[in-house]
Order: sequence, then C-alpha cells, then structure tokens
Amino acid sequence: MNNQLLKAFHRALSSTKKTIIIPHKNPDGDALGSSLALHAFLIKTGHDSRIIAPNEYPEFLDWMPSQEEIIKFSQLPDESTQLVEDADIIFTLDFNQLSRIDKLAPVVEQSDALKIMIDHHENPGDYAPITYSDPSKGSTCEMVFELISSLDHDQIDASIATSLYTGIMTDTGSFRFPSTTARTHQIVGTLIEKGAKPNTIHQKVYDNYSFGRLQLLGTALNNLKKIDEIPVVYITLSQKELNQNNFKKGDTEGFVNYGLSLAGITLAAIMIENESEKIIKMSFRSKGSFDVNQFAKKYFNGGGHINAAGGISSLNLDETEAKFRNAVIDEKSQFNV
Ligand code: 5GP
Ligand code: MN
Repeated sequence: MNNQLLKAFHRALSSTKKTIIIPHKNPDGDALGSSLALHAFLIKTGHDSRIIAPNEYPEFLDWMPSQEEIIKFSQLPDESTQLVEDADIIFTLDFNQLSRIDKLAPVVEQSDALKIMIDHHENPGDYAPITYSDPSKGSTCEMVFELISSLDHDQIDASIATSLYTGIMTDTGSFRFPSTTARTHQIVGTLIEKGAKPNTIHQKVYDNYSFGRLQLLGTALNNLKKIDEIPVVYITLSQKELNQNNFKKGDTEGFVNYGLSLAGITLAAIMIENESEKIIKMSFRSKGSFDVNQFAKKYFNGGGHINAAGGISSLNLDETEAKFRNAVIDEKSQFNV
C-alpha cells in the first residue's frame, strides 16, 4: 500500500474511534477472515469495534476466532442500525459496491461516519473517502495483513493470523488460483510463524461436510452439462434437489470449481435456485483470458474478478439455463475455438 494511503489510515485511527466493520452479504472466508482480523487489531489498539454482517454465514466458518461476536443485521436490524448511526468509522471489507450489503446499504449511506473500503474486486465504487482497492490481490485478507503489518506488526497474534490465513486460503483456492503470488506465500509464512495452523484450518474449512452436503455434490456432478463445441460446462441445482439433500447455507460452496477440473474446459458455471428470494444465484469460474467479471456484469447483473465472479438471475431455472447457453454462444469468439 502506498504512503499516502497509510498516512490516511494513521490519521483516521490517531484517536480512539467507534468503528463498525461490514463484510458483504453471504460472507465467505475472506470477508469474515478480514473482518475478524481487523476487528481484533482495532480492539488491541484501543478502539471500539463491532462487526455487522448483513446475514448468516456457513457452518464451515463458525469456528473462526471471535466469530460469536459478529452481529447479524438480518437478526438484529434495530440494534445494528443504531450502532451504524453512532459509529465514527465504517470499514467495508471484501466488496466495493454498497448494493453488496443489501438492506444495510441505505443505513450506511445515511451515516455520517468516515467510510473506508478495503477490497480486491474490479471497478470500485466511490462511496468511501479512504479507498484501499487492489484487484491484483488474491484476497482482502492479504490487504488487511499489509495494513495492520504497516500500522503495528507486533499486534499480529495467533487469532489474527488464523483469521487472515483462512481468508487467504479460501480466496486463492488453497493457493492455486493465478492471483497467488510470492507475496501471498511470504504473508502466509509470517502468519504461520505468528501461530496460524495450516493443517487444522484446512480441515475445519474443507473436511466438515455433512452427509447431505456430500450427496448434494453427487447430485450437482450428475447434473453437469457440457455445451457442444465450446469449452463450457455448467451445473444446475433446483430448490427441490437442495431440499432433498437437507441443504444448509454454504453447502454448495466450491461446487462450481469441479467443472474446471475437466480437461480442456475454460468456463464453468453453477446456477442454484433460491425459491424464497425468487432468484437463481450464479457463480462463474474461468481459466485464462475469459473474463467472467465482464460476463457476469453483462448478462447476470453481477461482477467479481477475471477468473471468479457471480451474478443473479430473476428468470426461472430453465430460462436462466437457456439464457446462459445463449450468452456463452454469443461470446464464442472469446474461447478461441
Ligand atoms: P462466488 O461465486 O464464490 O459467490 O463469488 C465469486 C466472486 O464474485 C467473489 O469475489 C464475489 O464477491 C463476486 N460475486 C459473487 N456474486 C456476486 C454478485 O451477485 N455481484 C457482484 N458484483 N459480485 C459477485
Ligand atoms: Mn475476497
């Protein structure tokens, strides 16, 4: 991070502040890890800090250090609103458009607090006077590491290291996505020295499938379809299929990546029906130059990164599937086939 930005952070935190940290809706390991690490750092350095998540997070993250302190806006809207109204600083982590926090967005917009964005997605919005945005980074956790290590490296303890390690591990696909750099590994090396336990963290996140979740993966893989003549595969999961397998939030995390493990495939997608929200949630993963951030933005009101993005469809599952098929056929020239 550059000097000017670091000075702005120093100034913002030069006296005791009431801070709020907000990760994006349906927070993942990176959103929660960066929030919990920053939260621990702020408390250790004398500030008041609360984390308000827009909604619940999956079970495979409910062991993270101090996660029980996270307030869920969906459960406590009035208390959360009051806290946001009283805050001096609002940190927004792992997203860069307020629409990503859903019903919390108007509450944040109306607050007089200083807004600070720390995020690694493309095309940051302009709502935060202090914007630390770096799409070249594989995770927001790496950015929070750079920040707190510049502010006061000695504060990084085993809890902070564990939270940051978790987010870096999950957002880099266990250090295999192209965003993984030498710096990523240097940071992770430091985190291990500070007390993060890679083997334990990996097991807690990845080896805790419920029976239903593993069977749901079977259904998802059975539903895998390939589009003729272009290197694209996709999975659909209907609400009925989710219900049959005791679906719980987070159960489909990572399913989309299986498509990319097929030889020669450069785009994989998953479409998951959500009856209560009347939407189809979509995830896209690509290899090489096919830009799923642009694709998600153009066709499915979404965004993300070049090789990992998501979006939403308000059509039904069959119509969404048809729209997806037509969209990739329209983009056929991008697949070099
Ligand atoms: P996932 O597919 O794992 O939900 O998300 C992949 C990436 O795309 C993440 O960086 C996530 O923040 C972003 N993303 C997922 N869904 C959406 C969406 O609906 N809108 C936008 N703008 N980004 C999304
Ligand atoms: Mn992230």
